[in-house]
Amino acid sequence: MQQQNLIKCVGCKKCMPCFMSINIPEIFKIYNQYVKDGDKESADKAYNLDMPKYQRATGCVTCNQCIPKCPMHISIPEMLQVANDALSSLSAEKSTSGPREVKEAFNPALIRQRLKKQRENH
Ligand code: SF4
Ligand code: SF4
Repeated sequence: MQQQNLIKCVGCKKCMPCFMSINIPEIFKIYNQYVKDGDKESADKAYNLDMPKYQRATGCVTCNQCIPKCPMHISIPEMLQVANDALSSLSAEKSTSGPREVKEAFNPALIRQRLKKQRENH
């Protein structure tokens, strides 16, 4: 992949927390590393195995609340989609980006659970 495909994330975490618990800086970090070294195995492991499903880009509901917080003016939901398209396709387990995950993203019980977890962490 080309260097111009890098996402200009500096890892400042000002976009966090995302109320859907999407791990924005980590997703961009994994994606950028993959763009730089093309190491499919490491990228697959970091995103599809090591990162909990609820933190992956598929849970983004494109509320756009994170966009104004980013000093790098990254179109975060759009870039999450780009990163997810590249990273989730590395996995043999295609179900990670399938309808079930999308359904989970809109599950009110799951949203309440995530909000509770965020409150506990602050
Ligand atoms: S647009 Fe996506 S990543 Fe940004 S705050 Fe909303 S759900 Fe989270
Ligand atoms: S605010 Fe922008 S630059 Fe900072 S971690 Fe989030 S996406 Fe990256």
